[in-house]
Amino acid sequence: MKLAIVGAGVAGSYLGNRLQEEGHHIQVFEESKKDVHWPVCAWGASKNMLEIFSKNAGLDFENYILHRGKKLRMDLPANNTEYLELKGLVTYDKYHWEQDLCKNLNIKYGVHCTTESEFLKEYDYVVDCTGLHRSLLPRSQEDFIIPSYEYLVDNVDGIEEFYVIGYKGARGYFWFFPLGNGRAYIGAGDIDRRYFGISEFFEKNPQAKVVKKIGRPIRLSPPKRMLPFSYTNKIGVGESIGCVFPMLGEGIIPSLLCCDIFIEVLNKDPRFDAKLYEKRVLKKFGYYDDVYRIVRMKMDGKLSTIKHFKLLMSMYRNMKRDEKRFGFGIDFEQMNRLLKAL
Ligand SMILES: Cc1cc2nc3c(=O)[nH]c(=O)nc-3n(C[C@H](O)[C@H](O)[C@H](O)COP(=O)(O)OP(=O)(O)OC[C@H]3O[C@@H](n4cnc5c(N)ncnc54)[C@H](O)[C@@H]3O)c2cc1C
Repeated sequence: MKLAIVGAGVAGSYLGNRLQEEGHHIQVFEESKKDVHWPVCAWGASKNMLEIFSKNAGLDFENYILHRGKKLRMDLPANNTEYLELKGLVTYDKYHWEQDLCKNLNIKYGVHCTTESEFLKEYDYVVDCTGLHRSLLPRSQEDFIIPSYEYLVDNVDGIEEFYVIGYKGARGYFWFFPLGNGRAYIGAGDIDRRYFGISEFFEKNPQAKVVKKIGRPIRLSPPKRMLPFSYTNKIGVGESIGCVFPMLGEGIIPSLLCCDIFIEVLNKDPRFDAKLYEKRVLKKFGYYDDVYRIVRMKMDGKLSTIKHFKLLMSMYRNMKRDEKRFGFGIDFEQMNRLLKAL
């Protein structure tokens, strides 16, 4: 099978690696130039899952871990503070992880692909791994993205753990993700574009040195709202079809889970059953739609813990079941306290 993968982010690099190992002919196209290509992300994810994905791709995840979290502090409105018990949340060297996945792949950097790109016509399938851009698939009327940006900073003293600041109305949050040796990502996603916490961080930490400023919005609309997943011979994988956990804007693990579904479906029948793929993705990420509805209602001030109890229970049960996948403990009382405080 001759496949083109467009986008060498987390989904494209993992998928390319896995499919090439299985004997497919893979060509990757990436729009950024090789010397500036950088994984836009705060590099935080669950070790429990990344160990499995790494193993599948012939890598040892231990080699990439930068910081192992123990507790995450959450500063909430009205001076409330909560602590999340971490059960595998780490930061890891996403740059080298993706570079290593791509080591043996044929990649053309600096190539921007569109639906009009003639050179894509020679492939049996073209996989849209363009993340937020969704360059090869039709737009979705229900697309919803949250503006965000972050800094990679050096020379941070005295802050060794993950911490976040939750904004009122769950309209976004500030994050501090430690990368070890005084390095960290600080950033924020904020529907109102105020990004509280970023300038405050620099005021409190004048010695912090900016290495990079990185920014792009994050898609929050889940797969159910990002149909179609395919168009002619183009198939979307990862954030391009909404594989992001809407409450957190967390897309690494969901994108990789989506890659695994793509591989399963392709292995079942090389003619790629797009309907089966759609069904499996919608099933896997079904509860993301409940979470998305909770987030949107909270943002609009319409969430009621009584009226929407069923929806909240669905989110709780699914997150509890997936504790390992998230890398932190889930507690119903705490979830309620959090929602009330926000
Ligand atoms: C600031 C920020 C911080 C985040 N932090 C976290 C975090 O800590 N943990 C977490 O789990 N998730 C995080 N996320 C979300 C996560 O990074 C994404 O959901 C995930 O990277 C999506 O993977 P992907 O491969 O689908 O897309 P991407 O990783 O975005 O990769 C898409 C690739 O396609 C390329 N591309 C785009 N358009 C074209 C085109 N037309 N032609 C060719 N190439 C193209 C891009 O250059 C890019 O390399 C964060 C997102 C942002 C913006």
